[in-house]
Amino acid sequence: AYWPASGSLRVEKLSARYSADGPRVLHEISFEVKAGERVGIGSVGRTGSGKSSLTLSLLRLILTEGKVYYDGIATDSVNLDALRSHITIIPQVPELLSGTLRQNLDPFSQYDDAVLNDSLRAAGLFSLQSETDEGRITLDSQIASGGSNLSVGQRQILALARAIVRQSKLLILDEATSAIDYETDEVIQKSLREELGNDVTLLTIAHRLQTIMDADKILVLDAGRIAEFGSPADL
Ligand code: ATP
Ligand code: MG
Repeated sequence: AYWPASGSLRVEKLSARYSADGPRVLHEISFEVKAGERVGIGSVGRTGSGKSSLTLSLLRLILTEGKVYYDGIATDSVNLDALRSHITIIPQVPELLSGTLRQNLDPFSQYDDAVLNDSLRAAGLFSLQSETDEGRITLDSQIASGGSNLSVGQRQILALARAIVRQSKLLILDEATSAIDYETDEVIQKSLREELGNDVTLLTIAHRLQTIMDADKILVLDAGRIAEFGSPADL
């Protein structure tokens, strides 16, 4: 069966560090997100409060203690490849693989071009380029190692398209900050609002107030601890 089917998340006393002898960057944080909720994650301190570390911890990409459950299943009882293929993180600066855009979106050649193009459209790529654009990105476009020939915003859009292709039920977006232009950011926000629907749980690390105020819940981190968690109206 496809897991997680609904995309609910429960985090219990989650701590994290980058190396066995390194300092803790998250300190026993606990919170719960219902299926389909949109959560904006912000911070009190300007940087280094643990937002990106939280996203990595949710996929066990750094060392963690405590528990993370998706649809009630603990991540330490599932295969890590399964975990990372069903939950999608869109990092602040996504890394892509060298090869075509098609290969990046669909590494195992499981989908028709029509499906892949629909996902690119839903993610917003085509609203940033016209049909006649010479440098237009298509499924056949060659991606340089890491994705260095694309802007950070374009890479986030492609990562979003990949999540749409995979039908991820839970999506974690680490908003790019200075590296992204306003227009691209607007496209991404619009795609998230209008194309994902209510059956996708969305955690957004938000740098803009707008993104936070639109959310169902807001989680505020301060030096690796939860300072606030609740609906925007209650905070
Ligand atoms: P920003 O708003 O700048 O994106 P953030 O809230 O995402 O910040 P994190 O990147 O999660 O904060 O950083 C939390 C802590 O983890 C900081 O003390 C930081 O120095 C540390 N940290 C982040 N990345 C690493 C890493 N790769 N190795 C070791 N420590 C790291
Ligand atoms: Mg960060």
